[in-house]
Amino acid sequence: MNTRYPKLFLMPGRERSLIKGHPWLFSGAVASCEGLPGPGDLVQAVSAAGEPLAVGFYHPRNSIAFRSLTRDPEARVDAGFFRHRIARARLLREKVVTGQTDACRVINAEGDGLPGLVADRYGQYLVVSFSTAGMERFRSKVLEGLKKEFQPTAIYERSEGRARNMEGLADQTGSAMGRMPPPLVEIRENGLSFDVDIISGQKTGFYLDQRVNRELVGALCRGARVLNCFSYSGGFSVYAGCGGAAQVTSVDVSSAATRLAAANWRKNDLPADAHRLVTADVFDYLRQVDEPYDLIILDPPAFARNARDVDSAAAGYKEINRQGIKKLKEGGLLFTFSCSNFIDETLFEKIVLAACRDAGKEARLLKALGPGPDHPVDLGHPEGRYLKGLLLSFGD
Ligand code: SAH
Repeated sequence: MNTRYPKLFLMPGRERSLIKGHPWLFSGAVASCEGLPGPGDLVQAVSAAGEPLAVGFYHPRNSIAFRSLTRDPEARVDAGFFRHRIARARLLREKVVTGQTDACRVINAEGDGLPGLVADRYGQYLVVSFSTAGMERFRSKVLEGLKKEFQPTAIYERSEGRARNMEGLADQTGSAMGRMPPPLVEIRENGLSFDVDIISGQKTGFYLDQRVNRELVGALCRGARVLNCFSYSGGFSVYAGCGGAAQVTSVDVSSAATRLAAANWRKNDLPADAHRLVTADVFDYLRQVDEPYDLIILDPPAFARNARDVDSAAAGYKEINRQGIKKLKEGGLLFTFSCSNFIDETLFEKIVLAACRDAGKEARLLKALGPGPDHPVDLGHPEGRYLKGLLLSFGD
């Protein structure tokens, strides 16, 4: 069948990044466009020499002007196309999410060939987020596809945030299919239990991207005194407790978060006296506390929200790392993370290395950390690699 999408002509030479594998084109790469496609319209990207390259979503006013859906320039992008991508995403999760786990990311935007769509599974519930005008156009087909592939009890929508605003879309939250989820949904992760607030919790309710790193903490903390900074609902803390830590301290500035962390600790039958909950700013806490720890986790929110923030964010990361490193006992372990898009792996390593130097300690890298395989990233899309981390060992 003939499909004919308006042609998006690129400036000479500007097809290079797309050909190399990047899924986006910025507005400066666009020379002209056939007709007057609107936000979210499908277009065919064409090089200045007239070579058709890809089909994807166009936006006339966002700096990201084109998001590739397929490198087949003649592909037909319809309900069947989205259904196929969703089915592929489900099959991947069946392969990579094993053990007693019923919560994971099931659609990871570009990483699943679905720019502007994120879906997280929490037991019988799906939480979905649409962040591009293009994906919004296919909303009912996408919801239908998710329903058929995952057969959830209900789909709850949390389409909000900056990416959506940049596409000229207002926030939208509420039930997208079925009844409203309960205030707390119980999930299992590697056999551990957590209550997740999918309606008003952070992100879509839980930091699913840290599952593999939580497992690693659980495996490395027998008998340890553990400090979990930026603990949110206590994910790392519960794994540490169940992994045999002698004592766990969870620090978060939000009292709602520390309440959830306390509840999740209890839910896993861990002894209350082995968990200290501190509602405080981590910067202040680390400056004041004078106790040594065997294992410290630093998992702050994104300090850099845009390129202008990078310097101040770097100073923030350096400070918490320097303070954290000083609190580690000889032979201690540090799990340190950044989820800022604008701070790449190389810069993060430099910041942490500078923190080690300032703390007068030498670190050995045991493992570079990232999200689990339910968060696939398009290999050509560095912007998709937001979460990076280091597992470091200090001293003897
Ligand atoms: N490690 C968590 C996720 C952390 S998200 C997990 O695996 O679930 C970042 C957390 O940092 C949020 O809960 C937020 O409330 C908290 N936070 C943000 N700024 C903070 C600060 N300055 N001090 C302490 N906590 C902070």
